[in-house]
Amino acid sequence: MLEQLKEHVVQIAKEADKSGLCKHKSGNFSIRDKETGYILITPSGVAREVLKADDIAVVDIDGNIVELKSDAKPSSELKVHLVAYREREDVFGVCHTHSHYATAFAVQGIEIKPVVFEALVYGVRTPVAKYQRPGTQELANSIIESLSISDACLLEKHGVIAVGKDLVDAYLKAQYVEDVAEIAYYSTVLGGGKLPEAIPQEDFDAVMHA
Ligand SMILES: [Zn+2]
Repeated sequence: MLEQLKEHVVQIAKEADKSGLCKHKSGNFSIRDKETGYILITPSGVAREVLKADDIAVVDIDGNIVELKSDAKPSSELKVHLVAYREREDVFGVCHTHSHYATAFAVQGIEIKPVVFEALVYGVRTPVAKYQRPGTQELANSIIESLSISDACLLEKHGVIAVGKDLVDAYLKAQYVEDVAEIAYYSTVLGGGKLPEAIPQEDFDAVMHA
């Protein structure tokens, strides 16, 4: 079932690997089917080079497996994806990465300041969800507050969650989070270790409504 969507998830996961956003076997991707409400998610521990459509699990909103054609296991962060879909009815794609610059901010528990206008793409903010152990319901629940104010959030000492109206949108936001994090990082280095000032929110508002 939903074979085309499975292929789409595989394609984005492979692109994320190729672009360097995700490395090794890290990161996970999901999509919500508009008709059935089912969620299709990448497996845990499968190298992207050998990832195939049959490895993509179809689950319901409670995480019960509806269909899985291979012996792969759904991502260990399935709970995070489910919470994102439950909390945000407008979300149909979720992307989780450990991209390096953004994760460096997450390790320090520092929000990535919106220092360039690209931050608008994901909602300006990247609130940091407090550290929780990977794979737990506590980690999943930790993103609720962050996702109520932005489409991107940092998981303390872990990585990034980006959500979107589809998986391409979520993936794009994850890329922009990484770009803004990289720029903020180098600006900090150039500033002798001083974090740069954020662009004022009213300027983002003005640009958005221009
Ligand atoms: Zn992770």
